Amino acid sequence: MQCELCGKETNELFLVLIEGTKLRVCKSCAKYGRVLSRVTAEKHVDSNEHKRRVKRSDTPEPVYSFVDDFGKVVEDARLRKGWKQVELAKRLAIKESLLHKIETSDLEPSVDLARRIEKLLSVKILVEVPSDLSPMKSTSSSSSALTLGDLVKVRKRKKQ
Ligand SMILES: [Zn+2]
Repeated sequence: MQCELCGKETNELFLVLIEGTKLRVCKSCAKYGRVLSRVTAEKHVDSNEHKRRVKRSDTPEPVYSFVDDFGKVVEDARLRKGWKQVELAKRLAIKESLLHKIETSDLEPSVDLARRIEKLLSVKILVEVPSDLSPMKSTSSSSSALTLGDLVKVRKRKKQ
């Protein structure tokens, strides 16, 4: 919005009575007359929304996807460790019933929880789906982590 007196661009205008004329003026011009009311920018929320959008496109949020049979992957890895469900649940600080749902692939854990499971069991259940905005971004920061390709190979070998 623009001050009708000095032409300054501002988010906050005041409806002011100056020498019998109603004008929408900026804060500094408001003192020249009698303030009737305050006028705020209607597009305020929109400009915030725009900022958020711009920020998001600069740093796109990674999109994650769970591998097929992630529950089985978790269960197999847990059994390899020789842990009961209740033991793993305790180490993950989650309820045993939640772990049961994860192991039956009924429920996808949060990304945070999935990361903890991966670390604890040395498995890979979460894959970062490459975004169009960052095609060159590496999906595995750790060289010891299994790639999805490795995982498929492992699963195929076990099925034979
Ligand atoms: Zn002004």
